[in-house]
Amino acid sequence: MTFAQAVPELSLAWRAQPPPNPELAVLNEPLAAELGLDPDHLRTPDGIHWLTGASPESETFAHAYSGHQFGHYSPRLGDGRALLLEERRDTTGTLRDLHLKGSGPTPFSRGGDGKAVLAPMLREFLVGEFLHAASIPSTRALAVLTTGEPVWRDGGPQPGALLVRVATGLIRVGTFQFAATRGPDVLRRLADYAISRHVPSISDDDAPYLGLFRHVCRAQASLIADWMSIGFVHGVMNTDNMVIAGESMDFGPCAFLDAFDTRAVFSSIDHAGRYAYGNQPAIAQWNLARFGETLLPLIAEDPQDAVEPVTELLNEFAADYEREIGHRMAAKLGLPSPNPELTSECLTLLQRHRIDYTLFFRALAAGTAADLFPEDSGFPQWHERWSATIGDPARAATEMNTVNPIYIPRNHIVEDTLAAATTGDLTPLNRLVTALRNPFTDQPGMEDLTQPPPSGCPPHVTFCGT
Ligand code: AMP
Ligand code: MG
Repeated sequence: MTFAQAVPELSLAWRAQPPPNPELAVLNEPLAAELGLDPDHLRTPDGIHWLTGASPESETFAHAYSGHQFGHYSPRLGDGRALLLEERRDTTGTLRDLHLKGSGPTPFSRGGDGKAVLAPMLREFLVGEFLHAASIPSTRALAVLTTGEPVWRDGGPQPGALLVRVATGLIRVGTFQFAATRGPDVLRRLADYAISRHVPSISDDDAPYLGLFRHVCRAQASLIADWMSIGFVHGVMNTDNMVIAGESMDFGPCAFLDAFDTRAVFSSIDHAGRYAYGNQPAIAQWNLARFGETLLPLIAEDPQDAVEPVTELLNEFAADYEREIGHRMAAKLGLPSPNPELTSECLTLLQRHRIDYTLFFRALAAGTAADLFPEDSGFPQWHERWSATIGDPARAATEMNTVNPIYIPRNHIVEDTLAAATTGDLTPLNRLVTALRNPFTDQPGMEDLTQPPPSGCPPHVTFCGT
């Protein structure tokens, strides 16, 4: 059963607006292969037509959802510029959602133009490929197309674009929030569909809805630990951008740490720092609380009786997150087991001296980390204790280098790459994605991609209106 069949109240059949002159900017051949799609066919006019969602045989849907945006509830968001193109089994048998972004206005557009522009859609491609290569669950771009139509942003024309992204599932916390306002029957069918698709092993449990909540909490604890350990700042962790499948999604204002700073905020509209790097675990828990609230009437006949078990699981999220991040930081530091004290002292040093988060861990393994610190930094004392903990340094270095990337989508490099792509030069983008798809392996000739922004570079700022 498709999502639209299971919960028709949440899907609106809607057609994509055919772009005037669609052309492939990027085709993700490895992902096409995973989906059992023939890249050669996708490059033909027929294939391109299908990717735009405009083929007569495509049944496309806009989804309804609500969401807390920066803490404020919007009862009706929905796909304002996106459409579900297809639910498709990949070659491993997993059902994946193929989803368009920038496919034209829908009844959920709320005054928006329903369009997307090239640079931010290519950013989605780069970030998704990197996270995936770093074994971090993420939606990924199958293709980015230019539409041949200018789209106005910030008072000027930009090349219009269409993203075809692939997700393990697009049910959001916001989808549950919307369903909860549609009554218990809609909510139950949504939850049953989510369980059958994402956690089939619990369908026959005595308490499947509590089980669903537990599963989603654990998946988020793991995902957020992944983000924190790699220095990823999502930037817009609204409840409509958190999917219960536990993948990273929507890479509008996201960025990566250069210098380590728990307060790092890149988004131009996040004045209060709600979605700062260091706030991400707490925000995930806040979003999960909103998710848990929607499930109360399914978990117990009297929703009041469900408050206690849901609260317990929310507390478990905090413990799960601490465990997950403890393991990841131990691996990054080459420690035989989690060591919260040594880890937090290390991060304090990185923060105090504004040390580049990515360079540090590779330098630590290479024995050159001291060069990154000023004199009297206190680093040598930490390093001495660290050395005494890791055991065989050669073995530790080898293991550390499997989890600490050399290449990340550095903000200033991504910006330069996207600027070139906007003028029609895709060479830097293709080079960068080659590096990002093998982030742990030294690639000769790519040294420039490992460099932090030049000193004096203004702080990186990201924007939502993409
Ligand atoms: P986002 O901030 O990208 O997660 O989007 C939040 C909401 O705004 C979603 O409902 C989107 O569909 C909608 N939206 C964002 N950009 C546009 C646009 N250009 N046209 C119509 N809807 C949009
Ligand atoms: Mg979104």
